[in-house]
Amino acid sequence: MNTMTGPNLSSPAVPSATRIPEVPLVSLDTLWMQVGGTLCNLSCTHCFISCGPKNHNHAMMSLAEVRRLLDDAGALAVKDYWITGGEVFLNPQIFGILEAILERGPLGVLTNGTLITPDKARALADIQSRSPHRLTLRISMESFDEEANNRIRGAQAYRKAVEGLRNLAAVGFSPILTVTRSWEEEEDGPMENRFLEFLRQNDVPEPRIKILPGFLLGRLAENERGYMEEERVTEKCFENFPITNLQCASSRMATSKGVFVCPILVDEDRARMGETLKETLRPFPLAHSACYTCRVSGMSCKS
Ligand code: SF4
Ligand code: SF4
Repeated sequence: MNTMTGPNLSSPAVPSATRIPEVPLVSLDTLWMQVGGTLCNLSCTHCFISCGPKNHNHAMMSLAEVRRLLDDAGALAVKDYWITGGEVFLNPQIFGILEAILERGPLGVLTNGTLITPDKARALADIQSRSPHRLTLRISMESFDEEANNRIRGAQAYRKAVEGLRNLAAVGFSPILTVTRSWEEEEDGPMENRFLEFLRQNDVPEPRIKILPGFLLGRLAENERGYMEEERVTEKCFENFPITNLQCASSRMATSKGVFVCPILVDEDRARMGETLKETLRPFPLAHSACYTCRVSGMSCKS
């Protein structure tokens, strides 16, 4: 895929302020897998892939699919793994998937936390105790304030996520709180302190937070605004910022529909790079406006 329309903006004859840069794949260090598909028990107003209880655009991945990918990833010397959705704990094979991945390397799990009961937390702790590799959990929330959180995530989302957080903390995990920035960037410091305090109050042993920028795609684009024409990257944007800092220089995202360049662009046909990991070992043109958000925020989806 990766077809670009219009003039060839990567040609050296075009000035760097208009040339579309290509990100090289320096090494495939990280494999993302969308094991939850686009199905989610929440319908957050800013979800950039519009996940929800009725979104079957991407199917969940089966344990067999995950195992095949792990074999491919092992042959390509992938170092770590991340899984996401949708909501991964809706996948009926999730615990088998976690075990299979943790046999191969460290694993990060993105979840909204609302389905993590005491039993599930204990099962996770049991899996961790049997694995030589580290299991990291990231729980997404919007606010330490219940009403503000539920305005974006829906009724009961706060209560259930806090329960999930506390259930994980009770068995020794320190989930990383993931928050999409809904305030001015200058306020990051004070906001971070308030979130850390919130985690301490909920008995999380090592409070940590990750603040993510909002991508103007999916439901966020519907509810706020989409990208403007000028919000694009050119080669000039990378004169003082190494393009290899972008996560797409060292990772790929596997879904039930094939392998995409990154977790952000799974609804974009032009970001589908191939059927197998091997087919995606090549540069990718940063022609999408979402790449602008990655550049200005220096964003990496990993912790
Ligand atoms: S942001 Fe996360 S929790 Fe919210 S609808 Fe999307 S996938 Fe679900
Ligand atoms: S959206 Fe970000 S991670 Fe995805 S291809 Fe663009 S720069 Fe890379």
